[in-house]
Amino acid sequence: MMYEDLSLERFMAGLKKRTPGEVEFHQAVYEVAESVIPFILANPRYRQAGILQRMTEPDRSIIFRVEWEDDEGNIRVNRGYRVQFNNSIGPYKGGLRFHPSVNLSILKFLGFEQTFKNSLTTLPMGAGKGGADFNPRGKSDREVMRFCQAFMTELFHHIGPNTDVPAGDIGVGVREISYMFGQYKRLAQEFTGVLTGKALEFGGSLIRTEATGYGNAYFMQEMLKHHGDSIEGKTCSISGSGNVATYCAEKVTQLGGKVVTLSDSDGFVHDKEGIDPEKLAWIIDLKTNRRGRISEYAEEFGCDFHAEKRPWGLPCDLAFPCATQNELDERDAKTLVSNGCKAVSEGANMPSTVEAIQVLLDNQILYGPGKAANAGGVAVSGLEMTQNSIRMAWTEEELEKKLVEIMTHIHAQCARYGQEGEFINYVKGANIAGFIKVADAMLAYGVG
Ligand code: NDP
Repeated sequence: MMYEDLSLERFMAGLKKRTPGEVEFHQAVYEVAESVIPFILANPRYRQAGILQRMTEPDRSIIFRVEWEDDEGNIRVNRGYRVQFNNSIGPYKGGLRFHPSVNLSILKFLGFEQTFKNSLTTLPMGAGKGGADFNPRGKSDREVMRFCQAFMTELFHHIGPNTDVPAGDIGVGVREISYMFGQYKRLAQEFTGVLTGKALEFGGSLIRTEATGYGNAYFMQEMLKHHGDSIEGKTCSISGSGNVATYCAEKVTQLGGKVVTLSDSDGFVHDKEGIDPEKLAWIIDLKTNRRGRISEYAEEFGCDFHAEKRPWGLPCDLAFPCATQNELDERDAKTLVSNGCKAVSEGANMPSTVEAIQVLLDNQILYGPGKAANAGGVAVSGLEMTQNSIRMAWTEEELEKKLVEIMTHIHAQCARYGQEGEFINYVKGANIAGFIKVADAMLAYGVG
């Protein structure tokens, strides 16, 4: 394609031809291209340098075999990945996901999104994403350990504290990061900050575990504040019950909201009384230690469990999708709107479909896309890297203050580039603000 002919339709047709079947990747690129192409057309230096074409091709994708032995002595084989997307503004940075659905398309969508998200944080981090089609569900602790060690035995060759610094994502929490960090340390014979999300005993940062969920609640608070409102007294629906969902629930509650739902892949619980801090601590223990199902909450606390359903059908003031991609579709968005929902802030990556986003924007719902709203996690990962480099640890208060400043700054950037009359289109704002820094760095380097 001649770059002079840049149009959304032609650009997407070319991308789909080059990457057949990568539907999640196409969706993520479409969401960005829709708002960034008009900006590129208005700024010819980006068009002439083919920046969008270059930004949608990862620097490299590494795919490898992971072999490990289960508790019965069977040899198991999984596929491991690391997509190193863009290191224009810092070392590759982004999580590792262990889930049976993991494939190249999903990791490319996540790595692409990460490029913009990391840019928005203002910290010097490039973008990457990786993982494996390994299913941690039902595996023993020893099996998870052996898998993590086998995975790192290969990944080790491709990462480093100044090259690529992975973190956690779905199915990868502090337990998995610890096993992988231990293996890296054995192989490299050095102690360096090559992973973030580590335990506090060996270089982890305070509030990293909480950061994505907390940041999402702060982003929602900032959107509301900007429109003369707040979380105080609002009924809030949250999906997921993992790392992001539970700490989002914690901060929303601290900010005065009432959280009435959480979910997992089996369904959601509806607690009309609200999920208070005590009940939430029970869930965090259930999910991180006992590794149980959210339905057990309904039995424990005597509330409703809706099997195989998502929480968006219930009336709520604020919605926080915090589970996985494409968990909120057009019908869900219409239901949220008709039930009077005021705002949606995404803890998960790309949880809303393209059609759902359109419904929210058409109805002028405040809509914080994941790349802005969930950037708090990677931001504190960036702060973990800094603490590792200077061999110091900041206090919880210092870190939370920095997190709030970063989320407020991200909101301000979205508002700057997304203002449309009275309305702020946060999708457009996040995409353009995230794009500029990376694109300018790429322009500065020249081609080659
Ligand atoms: P966890 O593994 O801790 O939790 C994931 C939660 O989502 C679980 O409740 C899980 O239920 C549910 N879930 C996962 N897949 C599906 C599915 N296909 N359908 C329904 N529910 C599902 O992951 P995180 O909390 O870390 O991640 C959640 C989201 O947040 C992801 O989109 C991730 O990319 C994003 N994110 C995470 C960051 C982090 O710092 N961890 C940073 C930024 C974004 P079940 O146990 O039944 O599978």
